[in-house]
Formats: sequence, C-alpha cells, structure tokens
Amino acid sequence: MKIIAGNWKMNGTCASLESVVHDLSSVETNNRIILCVPYTMLGVKSDKIAIGAQDVSAHTHGAYTGEVSASMVADMGAKYTIIGHSECRQYHGDTNDTVRAKAEQALANGLIPIICVGETMDEKQAGKTMEIIESGVRESIPSDVNSDIIVAYEPRWAIGAGLTPTSDEIAAAHTLIANTLTDMGLSGTPVLYGASVKGSNAAEIMSIPNVDGVLVGGASLKSDDFIPIITSVK
Ligand code: PEP
Repeated sequence: MKIIAGNWKMNGTCASLESVVHDLSSVETNNRIILCVPYTMLGVKSDKIAIGAQDVSAHTHGAYTGEVSASMVADMGAKYTIIGHSECRQYHGDTNDTVRAKAEQALANGLIPIICVGETMDEKQAGKTMEIIESGVRESIPSDVNSDIIVAYEPRWAIGAGLTPTSDEIAAAHTLIANTLTDMGLSGTPVLYGASVKGSNAAEIMSIPNVDGVLVGGASLKSDDFIPIITSVK
C-alpha cells in the first residue's frame, strides 16, 4: 500500500473536484488517495478519497486576516494538510520554525500534517542537499508527536519543472529522512517523494527503498493523468 497525495495548488473549482473524485471513486486500488485542495473546496465529500488542505495558520484564531486555522480546516471535515510546501516557503516566507508551529496546530486539531522538506537549486549546487534535508526534518517536526504525520521530500528545484533527481539521489534522500525519523523516535513515519511525478515515472520512483508514496502537483489535476499514477503500484 502506497500513499498517493495530490496537491491542486491554486487550481480547480468545486465542480472539477467533484468530477475527479467521481472518476477516482471507481478505481480499484489498495493505495491511500488524498487530494489537497484550496480551502474553498474542502466541503466536497468522498467516501474513498481523503480531502486535505494545503496549509494552515500558525495561530489558533484572531486578527490574522486571510489566514485559515487548523481548527477551521478540521471543521470542514478535512483529515490532512500539507505544511511547508516549497511555494509557501518561497512566497510566504515559511521557515522550519513556522512550519513546526503550523504542524503543531494541525496535530492539535486532529489533522495529519504532510510536512515538506527539500533543497533549492542553489543549495543543491552548494552541496548542501543532505544538510538541508536533515535540518528540515529535525526543525520542522514538533518535538512531542504522538499521532500520525507524513513527511514529503520535495526537491524544490524539480517541482513543476519536469525535472527529477536520479533514483540514487532519491534513495539517498529518503534513507537519510528515514534514519533521521528513527533517531527522532518516529520510525515508520511514511515518507513521500514529490516533484514532477507522472504516470510514466511513478512506479519506478515508488520502487525506490523508503519511498512510501508520492505527492503529485500538476498531474493530480486531471483524472486521465492521476489515475495512471494511482494504478502504477498495488
Ligand atoms: C507539488 O506541488 O507538490 C509538486 C510535486 O508539483 P509537481 O508534481 O507539479 O512537480
């Protein structure tokens, strides 16, 4: 069983989500399917597909215009939320400290956070990939986790770029994350790979040791692109 999570970013409508949910509902799979969608679509219901958000506030409530709290996301019936996505780190200035505060909010409200870590192209070229990944895991995850979390390794230079690291690079990153999680007392935490996953590379990526599933951006928006990823593994 793998976890196949989609990230719709700022795309779609309730109608397009209902259509994809309908298409996915008839797919025979043992994999866990999650769609992380804009807040406005969190009310769309599905028996087979778990719905999640893409971010939550680091605060509980109050004068934070435009923000949405983890309790509000949970109130909509969502079960998951992405936290620390590359685009939130890039455009909203999220740091590992912010991500940890948001993950604490998610956990306190019964959501499963999908905590993203990964290196930029500058960090990769400076030979800092492993350092950034390990500090991302250690600093972004709250210290007292006692319910489910998911970690996603997303090389930031590869997201939406049609680029992927080599299988050896993905294996090295995922082994480091698995070992770091074990050292933190969180062995068994699922670790997803994300960045430019599509039907043609999904099976190979999910055969790499310590890859427990994928986080899919662009290719999760249309059933014709997403279903081959879901059915590429048992
Ligand atoms: C993402 O946004 O998390 C992502 C992995 O995007 P893409 O699959 O389009 O690279």
